[in-house]
Amino acid sequence: MNAVITLSDLYEFKRCSLRYKLTKKDKLNTSLNAADGLREAVNSTINYFYYNLQDGKFITMGELKEKFSSIWYGEMDLYDIKLNGDREKRTRELEAFKMLQQMYRKEQRSESDIVAVNLDFRIPFGDFAIQDKIPLIRKTLQGYEIVNFKTGKQKYDEFWQRTDMGITLQAIAFDSMFKKIADSFCIENIRTSKTIYVERARKDYQRLYKSVKMMKTAMSQGWYYPNESFMCSSCPVKDLCMEWR
Ligand code: SF4
Repeated sequence: MNAVITLSDLYEFKRCSLRYKLTKKDKLNTSLNAADGLREAVNSTINYFYYNLQDGKFITMGELKEKFSSIWYGEMDLYDIKLNGDREKRTRELEAFKMLQQMYRKEQRSESDIVAVNLDFRIPFGDFAIQDKIPLIRKTLQGYEIVNFKTGKQKYDEFWQRTDMGITLQAIAFDSMFKKIADSFCIENIRTSKTIYVERARKDYQRLYKSVKMMKTAMSQGWYYPNESFMCSSCPVKDLCMEWR
């Protein structure tokens, strides 16, 4: 098996392997719901901001909003986002502006240097690999800091902080690229304006390796089955799932 998957594939597979198969593998429905769409559009806008900053240009808030709107209204045709009409579109747009404003204000006070933005990585697991991106690496007085931006309403509680697979993957990737463990991991929740610091050490990599190994085994055996839960109500492939026998 020579598969390359992303972090979002890994999460999707764990939530429901049948949904993963239908949406990610067979690509029968690739549209994003409003929350996922908003997260992707906001993150793309943040990348744009930091690419400019890395080039020495601190763009204005107006330019940032303009960038978001061009993604949100599909001018750039990046995402297929399912929304309930223009009203929801505008409400979500205002929600995004508020979050971008939080990020912007914080950055105005920051004294760190940008090291890398949206940095690609690929981690091999035998004949299998996971690829993803480190959203931001900056150099602070404490050293190299990996930064992630959260836009969701879910509480980033201690369990999630300690088991967040994205952070663990980024730690492994940083370790292999920079030949050292990152000095800090910062989670900027731009919805609540809270900053959380988490830790990762080599001992934390074990959990992820085990998860990936099990996913790999399940895929090679073709174990794709429905995992019914409250999330089914917003599942884009529930009609197909109902026919699963
Ligand atoms: S409806 Fe539920 S069980 Fe079926 S594929 Fe979607 S998430 Fe999985």
